Amino acid sequence: MKTSVTFGDVTVGPGEIGFGSLTTVELADSTPVKLPIIVMNGAEDGPKFLFSGAVHGGELIGANVVRRVMREELDPKKLKGLVVAIPIGNPLGFMFGDRASPQDLVTGPRFGSPGNAEGSITQRFGAAVWDQVTSKMDLRVDIHGNYPPCTAFCLCSLHDDRIKDKNTELAEATGLTIVYSPPKGTLDGMGGAIDPSYTPPPSVTLELIDARRVTEVSTDLGTRAILNVMKLWGMIEGEIEKQPEQYVWGGGRVKNGGTIRASRGGIVHFTRTPGEFIKEGDVVAKIYNPWGDVVETFKFPFDGHIRAYTYPRHQAINTGDTIAYITHDK
Ligand SMILES: [Zn+2]
Repeated sequence: MKTSVTFGDVTVGPGEIGFGSLTTVELADSTPVKLPIIVMNGAEDGPKFLFSGAVHGGELIGANVVRRVMREELDPKKLKGLVVAIPIGNPLGFMFGDRASPQDLVTGPRFGSPGNAEGSITQRFGAAVWDQVTSKMDLRVDIHGNYPPCTAFCLCSLHDDRIKDKNTELAEATGLTIVYSPPKGTLDGMGGAIDPSYTPPPSVTLELIDARRVTEVSTDLGTRAILNVMKLWGMIEGEIEKQPEQYVWGGGRVKNGGTIRASRGGIVHFTRTPGEFIKEGDVVAKIYNPWGDVVETFKFPFDGHIRAYTYPRHQAINTGDTIAYITHDK
C-alpha cells in the first residue's frame, strides 16, 4: 500500500513492518490479555493477506510459521500489498496449551465470519479480527495442526459458490494434499450455512504435523505453503515450490470423510499409519478396557485414508470421543 495503515495499536508506513496488538480483553483479576499482531505494509500496492496461527490454543506450530515468514522470509521493501499476521489467534487457550479457552470453553475464535462482538471472551477476539481485519482482506490462511500420529494437509471448502474456485486455487498453491469438503447437503458435506449478508475472503486451513511442538518439518511445510500462496497472488517474486513428496499423500487430493467416534471408553490403540491407503473393512483401531479386554474394534467404512488419529489429551478416551479424521480415496 502506498499509504500508511493502522490495525489496533500498530501504524506502519509503506515498506515497513510493525508490531503490537489488535484488541485487549480483561480477566477477572484485571489482567489484560492482548491479541498480538504483526503488520507488514508493502512498498507497492497489491492484495491484502491475513494469516493466523494457534486459533486452537494447543496448536502452537502456527505461531512459529508466522515468526519464520514475517521475521525471516519477507522483506517489506519487496512486498506488493499488505500482510497482517496473527501469531496466537487464541491467547487464552494458548496459555494452557489447550484447544479451547478455559474461561468460556470456546474452541477458538472464528476469523472467517462476523462473529459476536457481544459474545463470550473468546468470541470477542473473533469479532475484532473480522471487523478490523478479515472483512478488509482479499485472502486468508489459518494454520492449525494435529497431534501424532497424523499427516499434513490443506482443508478446502467448496460450500460457497462465491469463493470456491479461489479456495481451490489457494489450496493447490500450498502444495499439500487437499482435503476438500463437498457442497453442503451432499454426501459428507460439512461446514455452516452460507449467509448472504457477507462474503468471506477466499480462505483455506493448513493442518500441520505434531502441532504442540516447534519442528523444522512443520515450520518448513507451513512456510512454503504461505509463500506459495503469496507468489500465486503476485505479492512476492518467485516460482511456486513443491512440497517434499514424502509429506504428500492420497494422490494430492481427497474428499473429506468425516470422523470415526468411539462408542465405548478405554485406552485406544491405533493400528494403521495416517496417509497410507486403507481398504473398506480394515481394522484401524481397538479400545481396551482397564482389565485388558478389547471392548470395541473399528473397521474402516470405505476405501480411503486416515489423515490424523485424534484424542483429547492422551490415548484414553470416552464414549463419543473422536478417534480419527478420515477421507475417501479420491
Ligand atoms: Zn485446530
